[in-house]
Amino acid sequence: MNPPQNRDLNALHPLFRAPLERWLAEVRAAGLPIRVYETFRTPARQAYLYAQGRTRPGAVVTYTLDSCHRYGTACDWAPLIGGQLSWALDAYERIYKAVPPEHFGLETLDFERPHIQLAGGQQGAQRLGIVRDVLVGSVWPAIVQPASVSRPVAVVTAPAHQGAVLVPDPAGGWRDVSGQRLELPPTEGGYILNATGASVYLAPNYKK
Ligand SMILES: [Zn+2]
Repeated sequence: MNPPQNRDLNALHPLFRAPLERWLAEVRAAGLPIRVYETFRTPARQAYLYAQGRTRPGAVVTYTLDSCHRYGTACDWAPLIGGQLSWALDAYERIYKAVPPEHFGLETLDFERPHIQLAGGQQGAQRLGIVRDVLVGSVWPAIVQPASVSRPVAVVTAPAHQGAVLVPDPAGGWRDVSGQRLELPPTEGGYILNATGASVYLAPNYKK
C-alpha cells in the first residue's frame, strides 16, 4: 500500500500557506515556473516514506518521522523546465537565490532542496499552536464584492490572544493581522478567521 500524495494547497495550514503563496507568486512573477507536488502528509504516508531506503527498497527520501508536512507547514516543489518537473539542483539554487525564502518567513533544508517549510520547523509550528496530524486546511470563502451603498467602515482590534488572525489578501493568499487595528471594508461578510479554525472571530459588520 502506498498512501496517496496530497498536492492540494488547501490542505496546508493557513499560517504557512500565506507566506508560501506570496513566495510562489514572486517566483512566478520572476518568470520562473514551478509546481507544488506535495503538501499535507498523514502519519501513515510519512511512515511509508520513512521506510523507503530503510526497511523498504529505494533511496532514502526523508530524514524524519516528525515531518513538518504532518503539521501542514511544509511543501515540496519542483522547477518546471520545458514544461517538465526538474530535480536539477542548480535550478533550485537559482530560484532560492532569486527569491530568498527567508524573506517570507520560510526556510529550506540543506539536504532536501525540494522542501520548503515554515521558519522554525516543527518547534516553530508548535509555538504557533499548530498541531500535527490535524488537517486544518486553508480554504477561504469567496470574497464578497463591496456593496454599492456606502456604510461606515468597521474598525476592530484583532484579538491577538486567539493566535494569528488572517484576512484574505485581494491578490490571493492571506495576511496576518494579529494585534493590528483593522479597517474592514464595508462588505457583507467582512470577517476574519482565527488561523486554527477553532474559533471564528466575526467583525461587527458581519452579516449572514
Ligand atoms: Zn518535504
